[in-house]
Amino acid sequence: MDISRCIACGQPVKDHWLERCEDLYLCTPYVVDYGVCEGCRLVQQVPIPCDTRTFYPESYPMHHERSWFFSLARRVMIRRVYFEPKESAAGAVLMDFGCGDGSYLESIRDDVGEIIGFEPVSEQAERVRERLGCKVYNSIGEAEGDLKERVDVITAHFVVEHLTDLHLVFGFWSRILKDGGIVHIAVPNIRSWEARKFRKHWHGLDAPRHISFPEGDSLSILAKSHGFRLADSRYGIFPNTWAGSLATVLAGRYRHSLFLAFMPLCYLLSCLFPNSTTVFTLIKNARFSLEGSRHE
Ligand SMILES: [Zn+2]
Repeated sequence: MDISRCIACGQPVKDHWLERCEDLYLCTPYVVDYGVCEGCRLVQQVPIPCDTRTFYPESYPMHHERSWFFSLARRVMIRRVYFEPKESAAGAVLMDFGCGDGSYLESIRDDVGEIIGFEPVSEQAERVRERLGCKVYNSIGEAEGDLKERVDVITAHFVVEHLTDLHLVFGFWSRILKDGGIVHIAVPNIRSWEARKFRKHWHGLDAPRHISFPEGDSLSILAKSHGFRLADSRYGIFPNTWAGSLATVLAGRYRHSLFLAFMPLCYLLSCLFPNSTTVFTLIKNARFSLEGSRHE
């Protein structure tokens, strides 16, 4: 792969958008640069790393079962960012792509027909499989063989920004979804007020783990390339990036105690400036929109 090309549209990427970004969250030794695509304006790392496994130390929080406090906070404060199954989803097959510790799947398991996890780290996939008793894939090839056009809903909460090969994953999603199936994507908004103000200290940047920030033209290109229609995009209230950013600015690096202390204030801030996260809904098979059917 040409390392100076956009991973969404293939156009050249102009570097120097944000340079020398250190890992202020987990303190791994990596320092990365971000550039912006001259075509679709995607912000992405330059160069795109070949192997990201060492960016995720054993302490990576998403690979551990979350506390009751986190689960409660997610239910109460950030629920508008996560996919909430409606009554009509009672029989749906739902895959959570990048399911982490499986707590989202656990929270909606009674609201859908079947839950399926996807988690690339095999040990993590095994842990979730044992805990929830559902299928958890860690290989695209294996999942595609079992699930071709069987899935109704794919959720990808704060996952897309970690991917080095966006087309590989969007193509996979398209092949396992039924016609009319939906993809629900939540991604930190690199154009938000807080991202512009905090810059390298913005918690949503999460260098080196966040590779790119699809939105606008780049997300539309990815959707169209794989047979999706971009049905909806909206902002979601997400106080975590506010709280994490303030904690990082104050201490020079992320401190969880400060993050928790800032959380009540940051919930109010995120309601006042509710654009730190963007939520996209894609629908497979654009013909449906031309025929006037509604799937939103
Ligand atoms: Zn591009």
